[in-house]
Formats: sequence, C-alpha cells, structure tokens
Amino acid sequence: MVFEKRRPGAVLFDRDGTLIRDVPYNGDPKLVEPMPGAVEALGRLRQADVPVAVVTNQSGVAKGLLSPDDMDQVNARVEELLGPFDAWAICVHDDGDGCTCRKPAPGLVIRAAAVLDVSPRDCVVVGDIGRDMDAARAAGARGILIPTPQTLPVEIEDAPEVAHDLWDAVDRVLNDVAAAVPAASAPWARAMGWSRW
Ligand SMILES: [Mg+2]
Ligand SMILES: [Zn+2]
Repeated sequence: MVFEKRRPGAVLFDRDGTLIRDVPYNGDPKLVEPMPGAVEALGRLRQADVPVAVVTNQSGVAKGLLSPDDMDQVNARVEELLGPFDAWAICVHDDGDGCTCRKPAPGLVIRAAAVLDVSPRDCVVVGDIGRDMDAARAAGARGILIPTPQTLPVEIEDAPEVAHDLWDAVDRVLNDVAAAVPAASAPWARAMGWSRW
C-alpha cells in the first residue's frame, strides 16, 4: 500500500524563541541571533517548495518600548540571516487592546494563510510557548511546540505535538509524522536543552 505524503500548505513560525533567540522587546538588529538549526530547517522547507511565514506578537510597539521602524529593522535583519519569508503577520498590540491578532487569538495565522492563499487547516504553526499552540488550535492549524528553557511544563503537557528542535519539527512536517510525544516523556525536552540525539 502506498501512502501519499501530504505536504502542508505553509509553515508559520513564531519569531522570538523559535527562529531567533528571544531578546525581550528587541529593537536592535545587531542582537538578532538565529536559533540552532534555523537556517537549515528553513532551507529544507524552501527546497521542498513549502511556503514559510512568520507570525509574531510584538507588543513592545504598543508599549512604546520600540518603534515600528526599529521592529522593521530587526525583521530585515532576520531575513538577512534566515532568508526571505513568503509572508509576515505581525501583531503590534498588547493584551487588553482587544485585537483579534495577538496570539493566542487566531488572527495572525488566518492572516498569513490568507496572504499565502492556503487554508489555515493546511498550515503548521511552530512556536515555543502555549500562546502559539492556542493560536494554531483556534485557527484550525496543526501546532508543533519546540520547548526552550522558558517554556512552562504545562505548555509542554498541553501541546498537541512536541519537537526537540527546528530540525525535528521540519522532519515532522515533511514526513507528516503526526504522533505527539507522550506527555510523560516530555521533561527531557527541557532537560536536554538543545542537544541532538
Ligand atoms: Mg516565542
Ligand atoms: Zn493584534
């Protein structure tokens, strides 16, 4: 029997803590540092003709901690280091603004999918915290969590799927490995940090 591998319509990445190191409210392009494996992971998706996008909360703009221009410069640096993205969906609001885009709301996922002309249901959202997974779920997309030391245990337990790193996440996407990591085995995802095994 032949199983057809089903490529996703797009992979939508959280930015901070997923594609680049999380520097809270960063407005300085010089501080942009890719996460391990980011260049390779994106390269594999581009090679496979899977559109890649960024879905990112930037409440520092609403808080007045960085200007929209600072943010644009940081995002330009991200593309310099990681290559071009097919879409960017950015929420510049804060909790309490009542917007429909700030994750865990689904707006960014829906917007990126619309720009890419794919259904949110055919998208995969890759992120490092529960908000990313909740946004994916709310939009009907598949969510893959890549924990960092900042990720809360409950966020790992609640994640629909957990990957060790970006390489593993892309493996899952391209090979359509849908099985979630059992919650009981999740703690090593934190304990092992970034090592590959
Ligand atoms: Mg993040
Ligand atoms: Zn918003």
